[in-house]
Amino acid sequence: MNDALLKFLFDGAPVRGEVVQLREAWQQMIALHDYPPPVARLLGEMTAAAALLSTTIKFNGALVFQIHGDGPVKLLVVECQPDLALRATAKLRAGAHVPDGAGLRELVNAGGHGRCAITLDPRDPQPGQQPYQGVVPLEGASIAQALESYMRRSEQLDTRLWLAADGAGAAGLLLQRLPREGGRIGEDDHGETWQRAVTLASTLDSRELLSIGPDELVRRLYWQERLDAVARLTPRFQCTCSRARIGRMLVSLGREEVDSIVAELGSVTVTCDFCNARHEFDAVDVGQLFSTGSTDMGAQDSLH
Ligand SMILES: [Zn+2]
Repeated sequence: MNDALLKFLFDGAPVRGEVVQLREAWQQMIALHDYPPPVARLLGEMTAAAALLSTTIKFNGALVFQIHGDGPVKLLVVECQPDLALRATAKLRAGAHVPDGAGLRELVNAGGHGRCAITLDPRDPQPGQQPYQGVVPLEGASIAQALESYMRRSEQLDTRLWLAADGAGAAGLLLQRLPREGGRIGEDDHGETWQRAVTLASTLDSRELLSIGPDELVRRLYWQERLDAVARLTPRFQCTCSRARIGRMLVSLGREEVDSIVAELGSVTVTCDFCNARHEFDAVDVGQLFSTGSTDMGAQDSLH
């Protein structure tokens, strides 16, 4: 089955929906890493959610969804570009044990200190423009609940999410109540469409989300509703790392530090956390970087 994202509107009511299904893209992403299944599941749900949220926002830049964990998983990162190019990575603590079947709390919120962050990183920043970042404590027992809480706190938007992932695919459904003119939540049908849409979506189970394609899923859930199909998009896996970006990151570290690594190891090698690409710079490359390299700090790669 193909990777696809379907956007639709409920006719006559301020409610929008989106369904995403990732198979090939998701399989390419996790084939590069050896994540324990519970970690892959969490990252897959985040990847589906990032694609869904990214398409609800009018913004020319990357949406970066991060969870900073206090359990066996230290960091989960998903980046989604405006054209739905996705990349994702997870960092486990050294020697961490991931129990089979571990859920969100056990993996990233064991001590209640997990945080959920969404960053909007503009593609062509104006001078001095900083990325927008919202950070909230991790709430709820699932990625969907954590994001619903984030959207309420940060965006004051009623958003519901249903997410699922396994080794073969990642999928999700989003429903959102749209603000009307003047910021008032639509009252034209007193929220009845919203309630009905949510109630029907709540009958879905993970297996159905993962196995039924977006068109069929929407038809089965909402066959009695009048819907406007708004767009059909194609998410994909693509890493945005490049030798030039890594070079700029090295320049931002400073000549002294980079030279000391080259003196010790003969070269600097940076491995991309997302796609495992190795970018190597020897003494000659480093000399060139610092004579011609840009010191544009805004263009650092998001390696950690
Ligand atoms: Zn990469």
